[in-house]
Amino acid sequence: MSSFAIQARDALVVVDVQNDFVTGSLAVPGAAEVVPVLNRYLELFARCRLPVVATRDWHPASHGSFRQSGGPWPPHGVAGTPGAAFAPSLALPRGTIVISKATCNESDAYSGFQGTDLDSRLRALGIARLFVGGLATDYCVLNTVLDARRLGYEVVLLADAVRAVDLKPGDGEAAEKAMCRAGAVPIAFTDLALADAD
Ligand code: ZN
Repeated sequence: MSSFAIQARDALVVVDVQNDFVTGSLAVPGAAEVVPVLNRYLELFARCRLPVVATRDWHPASHGSFRQSGGPWPPHGVAGTPGAAFAPSLALPRGTIVISKATCNESDAYSGFQGTDLDSRLRALGIARLFVGGLATDYCVLNTVLDARRLGYEVVLLADAVRAVDLKPGDGEAAEKAMCRAGAVPIAFTDLALADAD
């Protein structure tokens, strides 16, 4: 994995690095550790003037995925609340494309493509390959990556910049395997740094 260079038709997709998933109501174990790693990718993509996408849960206050509504999760990602804001230490560059998902009561979306215009916006920019990291490996990263593969994008999984909920132990590992089976290529930031140094 040493010949990995960023190319003209690449985009970076940062999945759901929101306060509720980092420190809040649905904090993912180890989530804070991905922020400085993602910041290195963000800096690289900004330096190369390549598109950066940040997805976020942007739910109504009584969203169908919340326990009070019979769903599986505690309330999280309520539109406009501090918990739904991106983690303050995440260094999103100016011009970041923000994709809000699951914005109505009846719809949930683990994938950044589901019910959004993400695919058409990427196509309009001529993007062919997505570098995907964020939260959580076994839910929104998994489903965003699988949808991206179905839609024909090449996918590079930022294996050093994802963390899993692991509701069942091993869920995260199984998700990484499923993404790789679907054609995603796992890398760490050092793989890119090595390519840079060549
Ligand atoms: Zn949600």
